[in-house]
Amino acid sequence: MEKNIFVNINFLLSALEVASLPKDTGSEVALCGRSNSGKSSVLNALANNKNLARTSKTPGRTQSLNVFSLEENHAIRVIDLPGYGFAKVSKQERKKWGFLINNYLSKRKSLKGLVIIMDIRHPLKESDLILINWCEQTNTPVQIVLNKSDKISKGQSSLVKTQILKALEDFKINTNVIIFSAKKKYGLNLLQDKLNDWLDNSK
Ligand code: GDP
Repeated sequence: MEKNIFVNINFLLSALEVASLPKDTGSEVALCGRSNSGKSSVLNALANNKNLARTSKTPGRTQSLNVFSLEENHAIRVIDLPGYGFAKVSKQERKKWGFLINNYLSKRKSLKGLVIIMDIRHPLKESDLILINWCEQTNTPVQIVLNKSDKISKGQSSLVKTQILKALEDFKINTNVIIFSAKKKYGLNLLQDKLNDWLDNSK
């Protein structure tokens, strides 16, 4: 597969429920993260397009599954899942988010893996752990991206990575942690390689 498949990425549609997503064939990966973790910036860095993820932030689309297509026939897709930040939202909204994401993770056969984006200064919050739990239950491979690593030292970054791997030892999940900075494009090659690997339809 070509090195950067993300240069051809285009917004396809927004879906409020799993049933409204494109046909469940081919391959897709999903991005998830707490609000302000830099989910949009990570997607923009992957696509090398500063405006791409703006679509996901327009009114009416912040609670939806936003689908980006990497090929003309839409066989390879990136799904931008709604961000979460449980402190701010009502119990009912939290429940709705949980139902949507859990439903997506358990039903979607073409899903190859979930990227969980965290602010490296605030890793593994309760909401991240809930998500990791669901990935364990649904056998979904997880790629953790520790974004905003430009805000702390290299030594501190490695320490956070080690702590996370240790904390996740008890989960039966296929996981990996990348120290990342969407701002400095640090870790971008590693993330691209991982996504290429997940999305490679020929395997
Ligand atoms: P989202 O709400 O998760 O989609 O987050 P955004 O991508 O909108 O980013 C939230 C804020 O964090 C913005 O002010 C970004 O400029 C900033 N940000 C995102 N990624 C990075 C990064 O790697 N380093 C730094 N220093 N700031 C970042």
